[in-house]
Amino acid sequence: MTRTRKIIAVLVAAMGPLVLVVLARIPLGGALWASAGMAVLMALILRPIRPPTARVTTPVPVRQDGHAAQEVLGILPDPVIVVGAQERVEFANPAACAIYPGFEPGILLSLLVRHPEVLAVAGRARIKGAVQEVRFALRRPSERFLRVMALPLKTGRMALVFQDETELHRAEHMRAGFLANVSHELRTPLASLSGYIDTLGGHAKDDAAAQERFLAIMADQAARMGRLIDDLLSLSRIEMDAHLAPKTQMDLNAALSDVKDALTPVFTARGVQVQMELPAAPVYILGERDQVIQVIQNLIDNAIKYTPKGQNVTVSLMADVRRQSPGFDQKALGENAPRLQIVEAPRDPGQRFVMLEVRDPGPGIPAEHLPRLGERFYRVEAGKTSERTGTGLGLAIVKHIINRHRGGFSVQSQPGVGTVFTVALPRAQ
Ligand code: ADP
Repeated sequence: MTRTRKIIAVLVAAMGPLVLVVLARIPLGGALWASAGMAVLMALILRPIRPPTARVTTPVPVRQDGHAAQEVLGILPDPVIVVGAQERVEFANPAACAIYPGFEPGILLSLLVRHPEVLAVAGRARIKGAVQEVRFALRRPSERFLRVMALPLKTGRMALVFQDETELHRAEHMRAGFLANVSHELRTPLASLSGYIDTLGGHAKDDAAAQERFLAIMADQAARMGRLIDDLLSLSRIEMDAHLAPKTQMDLNAALSDVKDALTPVFTARGVQVQMELPAAPVYILGERDQVIQVIQNLIDNAIKYTPKGQNVTVSLMADVRRQSPGFDQKALGENAPRLQIVEAPRDPGQRFVMLEVRDPGPGIPAEHLPRLGERFYRVEAGKTSERTGTGLGLAIVKHIINRHRGGFSVQSQPGVGTVFTVALPRAQ
């Protein structure tokens, strides 16, 4: 609408109430106020609506001086060193300074870096004009395994980029150790089996009594190999699901009674009793039933193994304990008996736990062995009872299952008094 037309529209709106003075005989004062109001209203209606102005931003100047690149290198967790002309170091990021604290601009590379492997790889990269790499170990302040790449740059400089492979190295070391342990554990019963096979085919060929005895031992060894393989398979299954916390509910009370029934022939044969102190009502936890049963079974089985004839294993359950409540870190054997947290329960303030305690009046475990419980194949007294019957994997399986269930696992033991294993499992809401 043009400006003139807008003025006419405002005047017409203002005239309306004045016309009413003549036609409807309304008072002139009121009509003047009404006509002014109408004029203002029309002017407002016809006011052009401006689109919101876009906010103008000042473009950020791109820094051409290499500071941006240095800033990025500065926060990189991997050490980086830039070497310029005459093998003088131009730049080292904080991660590199942590390894080589003597950095100052212009220092000779050979004065800053004392590792011959690194100097050699830098020299090779210069001569060949191509990327070279090498692995080496740092002994101080703690042992670390690093890979360093020497990258010649177009400007004539060279970048030395380090990568920390300590974790990888550790995992590889553990894997190799684990394989060596498995082979060792299988080799013993296997050697025994093949020895008896030779004997049965040789000088015991016609000795019925010896055959019977040897066959019983062979059956024992075969069963041991079977247990070992079952435990190894269990461990690998649990590890595969480690990141998936169980979401199903199960009644821990009922599971405990089932395990007791299943183990009755075992503890009766040993002349031991298992005493259960359980709440009357069901106790629901978030757990995978088979795995929770395996935890209970491994702990009660161990307790039975170490309990002297005629004495009791005690299993008790507390149905509702918070992480921060004193009951959580209860020391069943008193303040002075050594205690170790094998798996630390999550510190989520809202989470409530069910606590399961398995206590035996056995010989106990010396304090220096506690930190290693839960390691695969670790046995406190190699060569004794547990060596013959156990696989050394029972507590490792418990530890992994509890980890997967986002629970807690601890042990308290006093030589000559006994041992208490405590498991915390998340209570179902
Ligand atoms: P194993 O199958 O040999 O019993 P575990 O992993 O279950 O393996 O236990 C590891 C070691 O911890 C056992 O060999 C034993 O030395 C020690 N141990 C476990 N439970 C008890 C206990 N209740 N009392 C004394 N020592 C125990």
